[in-house]
Amino acid sequence: MLAVKLQEDAGVDIVTEGEQSRQHFVHGFLEKIEGIDFAHKVEMGIRKDRYKAMVPQVVAPLRLKGRVHADEARIARAHTTRKLKFTLPGPMTIIDTIADQYYGDRVKMAFVFAELLNEEATALQADGVDVIQFDEPAFNVYMDEVNDWGIRALERAAEGLSCATAVHICYGYGIKANTDWKQTLGAEWRQYEEIFPAIAKSPIQQVAIECRNSHVPLELLGLLTGKVVQAGVIDVASDTVETAEDVARVIDDVSKFVPKSNIVATTNCGMAPMHRDIAEAKLMALGAGAKLARQRFG
Ligand code: ZN
Repeated sequence: MLAVKLQEDAGVDIVTEGEQSRQHFVHGFLEKIEGIDFAHKVEMGIRKDRYKAMVPQVVAPLRLKGRVHADEARIARAHTTRKLKFTLPGPMTIIDTIADQYYGDRVKMAFVFAELLNEEATALQADGVDVIQFDEPAFNVYMDEVNDWGIRALERAAEGLSCATAVHICYGYGIKANTDWKQTLGAEWRQYEEIFPAIAKSPIQQVAIECRNSHVPLELLGLLTGKVVQAGVIDVASDTVETAEDVARVIDDVSKFVPKSNIVATTNCGMAPMHRDIAEAKLMALGAGAKLARQRFG
């Protein structure tokens, strides 16, 4: 709730709820699912073994025990009249963050999670959420699978929704395993080139992507024909606070590849691991920079 107020004060038009109040962006959703054993975690290499994590195990048929995020959504809705975005983990990222002792088939398990996500997303929409965003950091790790079934699973999670739908893909927070991995990716990060054409064809309406201090060539955004691009203009892996000018410049750069009417300025990724005062200053820069860009470029 405090986070909602901070975003409003910063002048952010689309307020985000989801990550701030959760322990972990995937496990927060899993906690309300029957069929998962949290008491006996096992070590698993995740994101193609980029790092090891202790993960819960699927041991029985998966079922929602009830609503997952009703309280967070209703409280956030009651405290802002602005557009409200809610984030959920995507099916591919979920199955890459949990061990399977039951289904014996990753894809099958992903589609079961997609159904559960769809149940919760439909309920969030009824709570008054305007944008449902699925976070899929696994999408730039398993590009072949994204094209084979990852996007289909995402579409299943978003099926029947009439609110706006978004997917967030990213190269992760500034934790050490990620920054080490990023060193191996070369000067230009072109992974998105393999998946954007398929995303462009999907009914998912928006793509949230990091643009500030990113090695992703912005020209790749041109592949997202017809999509609203939530352009990350705030670096969440650095404590250096952006100026409004920095933010406006990124928006200007993005506008070379995406029509202005389809650009929404946001942060590169969630701010959960950040110091509170820095996160706050960065939010202020986001609001001020977006305003500056509107004045300058229309
Ligand atoms: Zn992210």
